[in-house]
Amino acid sequence: MSTHSQSSPALRVLDIVEGTIVDGPGLRTSIYLAGCPHHCPGCHNPQSWDPEGGTLLTVDAIVARVLESGFNVTLSGGDPLLQIEGVIELARRLRSEGLNVWCYTGYTIEQIRESPRLLPILSAVDTIVDGPFVEELRDISLQFRGSSNQRIIHLH
Ligand code: SF4
Repeated sequence: MSTHSQSSPALRVLDIVEGTIVDGPGLRTSIYLAGCPHHCPGCHNPQSWDPEGGTLLTVDAIVARVLESGFNVTLSGGDPLLQIEGVIELARRLRSEGLNVWCYTGYTIEQIRESPRLLPILSAVDTIVDGPFVEELRDISLQFRGSSNQRIIHLH
């Protein structure tokens, strides 16, 4: 049995999709986490807002699933930062396996830096795509982003 099993936190997961190409470079495993407090007008997936949605999966189970395909990983949602403690644990575990981890969030990087609770995500992932979806700034020509206020921020 893994030494992580007893303390492995659980996350509410809407879906895990292997082989995505729109959530970061290369073929990736996208993990869609349940719950989003931002409620952006024009959100592509309002069904993801429910923090009680999805299925409860342990970090151990998610890591095992990701390692089956071995793709790099994107955390999306919903807003992964709604489940910040478990998401940080998940991201750290994935990076310790040598995987590159992107994380989408509706918070801006300035808001993350000002929050002691959210701040550790910046050392746990490789890249943050930040900010809410802003319908007026929607631009389908942007790679990996929905609106032009969102930024791709490489942290490592
Ligand atoms: S942050 Fe993303 S999931 Fe949340 S409401 Fe905005 S567009 Fe939808």
